[in-house]
Amino acid sequence: MAELRHLVLVLGDQLDLEAAAFDGFDTRHDAVWMAEVAEESTHVWSSKPRTALFLAAMRHFAQALQAAGRPLHYTRLGSGAGSLAAQLQADVLRLRPQQLVMTAPGDWRVLQALKAVARDAGLVLDVREDRHFYCSVRDFAAHAQGRKQLRMEFFYREQRQRHRVLMEPSPGGADQPVGGQWNFDADNREAFGNSGPGAVPPRSRFAPDTITQEVLQLVNTRFAQHPGDLQHFAWPVTRAQALQALHTFISERLPLFGRYQDAMWPGDPWLYHAHLSSALNLKLLNPREVVAAAEAAYRSGLVPLASAEGFIRQILGWREYVRGVYWTQMPAYAERNALGAQAELPAWYWTGDTDMACLRDALQQTLAHGYANHIQRLMVTGLYTLMLGVRPQQVHAWYLAVYVDAVEWVELPNTLGMSQYADGGVMASKPYVATGKYIQRMSPHCKGCRYDPAQRSGDTACPYTTLYWDFLLRHEKRLAKNARMALQVKNVARLTPADRAAITERSAALRAGSVGCSTPALQS
Ligand SMILES: Cc1cc2nc3c(=O)[nH]c(=O)nc-3n(C[C@H](O)[C@H](O)[C@H](O)COP(=O)(O)OP(=O)(O)OC[C@H]3O[C@@H](n4cnc5c(N)ncnc54)[C@H](O)[C@@H]3O)c2cc1C
Ligand code: SF4
Repeated sequence: MAELRHLVLVLGDQLDLEAAAFDGFDTRHDAVWMAEVAEESTHVWSSKPRTALFLAAMRHFAQALQAAGRPLHYTRLGSGAGSLAAQLQADVLRLRPQQLVMTAPGDWRVLQALKAVARDAGLVLDVREDRHFYCSVRDFAAHAQGRKQLRMEFFYREQRQRHRVLMEPSPGGADQPVGGQWNFDADNREAFGNSGPGAVPPRSRFAPDTITQEVLQLVNTRFAQHPGDLQHFAWPVTRAQALQALHTFISERLPLFGRYQDAMWPGDPWLYHAHLSSALNLKLLNPREVVAAAEAAYRSGLVPLASAEGFIRQILGWREYVRGVYWTQMPAYAERNALGAQAELPAWYWTGDTDMACLRDALQQTLAHGYANHIQRLMVTGLYTLMLGVRPQQVHAWYLAVYVDAVEWVELPNTLGMSQYADGGVMASKPYVATGKYIQRMSPHCKGCRYDPAQRSGDTACPYTTLYWDFLLRHEKRLAKNARMALQVKNVARLTPADRAAITERSAALRAGSVGCSTPALQS
């Protein structure tokens, strides 16, 4: 066997033939290494749709590598070791490469494990910049340096200027944002109203081919006890499918994306959203082509500016920002618990068995598809655990397990920071807390619910409303110091001792599971 120069490691979320790890790849001397291992589905209780998506996309990428003539060592689930580290260790002994090469991974735990294998084997592990992203970790650290507080909006403006996205020359010659303002957030908060969302163009569905069907069968057998189901599986698993999904979104749903970005409708998580996060996070799509397509649609008059800007802000702003936060704050970030939350995650988060209409809908869609839209994640599932006071590490493990787009660099700051405020304000300037009236405003869920969003105590009180007041009571001192919470905290003073006692009592019942769960036994 000819001597192996570079063994290029490709992880399940690095499915890009143009990745930095392939720079200088020589088919005569180098080979690619990929491995399906059980640990990636068990270190958190990964849902069936999430595991299936990763495996199906990896197997299709293996085909693309072979078509490109790149030699490949691929281990299938069950035929090798149980973890990435153990499999790599065995393959290094067998293949004896001179060096290991990889693109920077998306998970701190995986990077440490692979570094340890290389160290023990006495090999160099060349970890290359992940140029999928607009902003390198070094550039983000430079942006963060010396700032008392990080704020996405300032980072986003810098990104727009630096990459000349939605910019135009001002009369004075300098660049200014198109439309004269950076942000059209205020235009992007409409609900659907009584008549509902109407005929929303359907989401792109990709019928499982033979490779994917084999994976679905494997996952159903091997991970039978894991949450979620696979009967609706239709995610893009190849680059060609991902591009098709992108073009359909831009032409059919982006025009109304901005307007209805925060709206919810029972039984329909898809609405005008892009459903592109998994394709982006697996690196089947490049964010530059996604942003360019949205900007081109605006410039050709197909899409209003508020929609194009609102969408681009998610990709060029939020997505890059959370990655910067993750890599500049890890590993301590994962352990943060600024509010000292200690409650257990309700067991029915894994089944959807709750009598709260909004939460049941979001949980059931999550388990059926591995998907919920942003507002469901932030203002339904996340809002409930935040106000219930669930330990953020348990909430993080749930989000990382259930969504098809969940990779730690993006999931952790969104969950622990933006949603649970466990980082004490790195990601968000205040905790996102609200009563059930917010959900009532953004959806018709409350009409079909046994609870009343206007009540904060009593048998029919909406659990969100009760927990909102309980949250303010429990954290009153801390929140009073936050200027953005001052108005909300001020209202606590109006509560009588009897109000306070009733709120505290019902919140305790919610934590104990005697209220909120359709089958109380599931709570424990
Ligand atoms: C608690 C919580 C957990 C989350 N976990 C994940 C996760 O594991 N993986 C993930 O990709 N996103 C996560 N998000 C962000 C966001 O909810 C999803 O990216 C979005 O819902 C994916 O659906 P979509 O493609 O239809 O997005 P759209 O609403 O159509 O948005 C377009 C794109 O913008 C990007 N985007 C939007 N918001 C964010 C954000 N806050 N952070 C990063 N990228 C963003 C995504 O790539 C998305 O595809 C989380 C949000 C919250 C509140
Ligand atoms: S009443 Fe409360 S629990 Fe019921 S749907 Fe409305 S917000 Fe959700």
